[in-house]
Amino acid sequence: MAGSDERFARSEAFFGKDGQAKLAATHAVLVGWGGLGSHAGQQLALNGVGKITVIDPQTAEESNRNRYIGLWHDDPTPKRGDPTPGLLKVDMAERLIKKINPCIVVKKVSDTFISRSGFDAIEQADWAFGCLDMEGARLILNEVCAATGTRYLDLASEIIPGESPEYGGRVFVNAGGPGCMVCCDVLDEDESRDDLLGPQAKQDRGALYGVDLSQLKGSGPSVVSLNGVVASLAVTEFCVAQTGLRSPHRQLTYYAHKGIVTLNRDEPRDGCYACSLRSGGSRSDVDHWLNEPCRDWLR
Ligand SMILES: [Zn+2]
Repeated sequence: MAGSDERFARSEAFFGKDGQAKLAATHAVLVGWGGLGSHAGQQLALNGVGKITVIDPQTAEESNRNRYIGLWHDDPTPKRGDPTPGLLKVDMAERLIKKINPCIVVKKVSDTFISRSGFDAIEQADWAFGCLDMEGARLILNEVCAATGTRYLDLASEIIPGESPEYGGRVFVNAGGPGCMVCCDVLDEDESRDDLLGPQAKQDRGALYGVDLSQLKGSGPSVVSLNGVVASLAVTEFCVAQTGLRSPHRQLTYYAHKGIVTLNRDEPRDGCYACSLRSGGSRSDVDHWLNEPCRDWLR
């Protein structure tokens, strides 16, 4: 990627000239441009990643203004029923990345990632950053990355309110080989299943437990600083892996209420379907998701 020698002088002092060149030759795809994705995208641009694809079907909303990087005060965030067109998140992403460095190649997919163009973009990328809200969506992205051989980082932040609130997040990395979010027990199986079944199934389970589960993901508490830490952990793991500084850590968990980040070294379980795709699968093993109704509600 073009740019002055000085631009990356201090990055090269860490990554090395070869490492920096590897970042310039890298194609990363951001699946979701939100509180996590906008932080990660900004850092990928600053770190000199040469090609960035952004996948997101949504437009900016007023409630995004507390945490999205690159959503400016005069950008439109129309209320429901207002005919003013909203700002597409992929356009917001392109604007931010190009403002940082116009030499970066930006590709936009303004659709759910569970689409032909979404799967194509993931297949073409070297690394995918999963910046999603729902466990069911993570389950599908995990399979798509495995089947297409795309290295994968999953980002999640969480705030559990209460008398003693817990808050923080985690990063999960699969840079090839076995060990994914399913066989490392990172995904919540019940929640994934409910997400795939649909909003009604989720409401029903919520009623069973006396909790409105639909309110917990996607519209719960979320703040810029927690997202920023999680995105920084993910981009650091990506950079050290891609530049050859070291192998990435598989799972980092950020307990902000305790002020610590821990490393999980649990070994994956055997017999994982998603991991079998990584060793011998292809697009044809995951294209069935394109016809599932869940593509209409997962995000
Ligand atoms: Zn697995």
